[in-house]
Amino acid sequence: MGLHAARRFAELRPDASVILVDAGRIGNNASGRCMGFAIDLAHNPRERDFVEDVKGNREELLVNLEGNAYLRSAVEELGVECDWDPQGKYHSAATDHGVADLLRFSQALDRIGQRYRWVEREEIQALTGSRHYIRALHHPGTILLQPAKYLKNATRVLPKNVTVHENTPIIAVQFGKPRHVCETPTGTLRASKVIICAAGYLTKFGFFGNSAIPVYTFASMTRPLSEAEIPRLGDRAAYGLIPANSFGTTVRRTRDNRLFLRNVYAYARDFKTTRRDILQARKQQQIAFDRRWPGLSSIGFEASWGGLLTLAQNGGMVFGQLADDVYGAAFCNGTGVSRGTAFGKAVAELACGLSSPVTELLKNRRKPSKTYPEIVTSLGVRFVTARRFKQAGEEV
Ligand SMILES: Cc1cc2nc3c(=O)[nH]c(=O)nc-3n(C[C@H](O)[C@H](O)[C@H](O)COP(=O)(O)OP(=O)(O)OC[C@H]3O[C@@H](n4cnc5c(N)ncnc54)[C@H](O)[C@@H]3O)c2cc1C
Repeated sequence: MGLHAARRFAELRPDASVILVDAGRIGNNASGRCMGFAIDLAHNPRERDFVEDVKGNREELLVNLEGNAYLRSAVEELGVECDWDPQGKYHSAATDHGVADLLRFSQALDRIGQRYRWVEREEIQALTGSRHYIRALHHPGTILLQPAKYLKNATRVLPKNVTVHENTPIIAVQFGKPRHVCETPTGTLRASKVIICAAGYLTKFGFFGNSAIPVYTFASMTRPLSEAEIPRLGDRAAYGLIPANSFGTTVRRTRDNRLFLRNVYAYARDFKTTRRDILQARKQQQIAFDRRWPGLSSIGFEASWGGLLTLAQNGGMVFGQLADDVYGAAFCNGTGVSRGTAFGKAVAELACGLSSPVTELLKNRRKPSKTYPEIVTSLGVRFVTARRFKQAGEEV
């Protein structure tokens, strides 16, 4: 989000001096650690509203398509290399209840006039080399990319009027006129306008306190597979599989022939996860690997990690003007690649006094509500995620 806000603001105000600060390294955040599905249409077939809320889904599509178009312009016009692959996504089922979820999802797609294709057992098994899958639904609008590569390379081609400071946390801010004053461990920034795109950390800047539900999800990746191993991954050089059940396992085969698996959600007190949580999740990813590629899974994983998703109890999101000359966008509620790009672009347009169908739509979105006290929220998240994970069964 922040990268795209900086890019857009600098494009619109070529005479302005834009400073992009990140507490860590760009790419070493949720955006860079994610699975790289730039999703045009959200994929939660279990959500009742997904079937019923036709207007909401059309609006979601409009926002995400704007995000994908901006990503595409970075690739096509600025030459950002990121393993761009507009092949769409496979919603894949391994169980009868998974197939039932896909049927509901297809009804939702019918209602909003979306194209899709059923992929039967033989085809999905040939494509993935895995007997685990029994049916899938191919939806064409999603783009697969290598997110950290995208972020690193997109940072290099930001407009000339952007200066980037990594490893520069903002540790205190005084909002005011004529300049906002932002303190970092090694200096002070004075800015006439501030745009905050810091996911759940936005709440630490004094806005929407007690509204972020910090949840981590986790992933593991294998080493690149050898020439002898590659044929076991099926006949498609790269792919992305979204589980029919949203608590199931998401899978990517990457361009460099690695398998990349994501599952498990965990409450993250004060936005932090622990090594123990990562190792616990890795065990679940190993189980998922064993189920899908039993002949290969003894190779294990080269790396495992977690990343922050910021949720709101009511599904609300932050977008808009937060104070005089202070703007913000945050809370992706799970799928933030396309949506986050669109939010970042749109919040910069808003900060420049412009309006577009997307800025208007986002301004009117539901804002995040307050959460219950932390003890209640953390227990609630733990309980619900454990139950839904169990119900997902072999989809994990
Ligand atoms: C394993 C995993 C897989 C996922 N897969 C997908 C997927 O395939 N598709 C999808 O759409 N979504 C996916 N997601 C979700 C997606 O990654 C997030 O929704 C999205 O990246 C959020 O983007 P963001 O820019 O809002 O937040 P972030 O990427 O978290 O960026 C927030 C930034 O704010 C900075 N920051 C915070 N506080 C400060 C401060 N005080 N000073 C300076 N900087 C600060 C942080 O350093 C960070 O870089 C996945 C997430 C994970 C963890």
